[in-house]
Amino acid sequence: MEYTAEKNQAEDLSLWKQAVLRTAKKAYEEKLMAGTSGNLSVFCRRRGLMVITPSSYDYSIMEERDIVVTDLEGNVVEGCHKPSSEWRMHAEIYRHLDHVNAVVHTHSPYATSFAVNHQEIPVILIEMIPFLKGKLEVSPYATQGSAQVGLNAVPILERKNACLMANHGVVAVGKTLDEAYINSVYTEDTAKIYHMALSSGQPVVIPGYEE
Ligand code: 13P
Ligand code: ZN
Repeated sequence: MEYTAEKNQAEDLSLWKQAVLRTAKKAYEEKLMAGTSGNLSVFCRRRGLMVITPSSYDYSIMEERDIVVTDLEGNVVEGCHKPSSEWRMHAEIYRHLDHVNAVVHTHSPYATSFAVNHQEIPVILIEMIPFLKGKLEVSPYATQGSAQVGLNAVPILERKNACLMANHGVVAVGKTLDEAYINSVYTEDTAKIYHMALSSGQPVVIPGYEE
């Protein structure tokens, strides 16, 4: 009986690791992450465990066994690498936001350029309404790896599915990893189109969303 429970637990974690690995490689191939930047995780709320990418690890050679499992205090439960240096950001988001079970953090270039400018992106595209839940706001700067990075994003992510992190990048969330990933893709796509629209004319905000 106990053996079965433990076996199921291991199988379970393996499926979660596969999903994290698959999504990390997809994000890398989509050029949402350059070098080893960015990180992503899923949260098993029942067990209080995060399944997260390793720190500073080449996405192109990453395998299932490289994915790390930690609790919300950063204690490694499974894995042979250090968890992402941003594990505290992931942990604070899971602690504060019950509806979030996955976090995707990128330094995707167009969105990050607006984050560097501390410039929010108004609702200029239809996808921003159902996916991102409105305009893209900028969370205040905090030192890389600190809990404050997550704490600064929480007030925005209570209402939105993504935010720009000042002088840093993007954090997107979802009920599932697929949702969080798509939200990170739409964040970059929105920023790219807004950049192009700004350079060719005067972007117009969707009526009713001029917040
Ligand atoms: P890690 O490689 O430690 O996940 O750090 C990348 C990053 O994006 C830091 O903000
Ligand atoms: Zn980062």
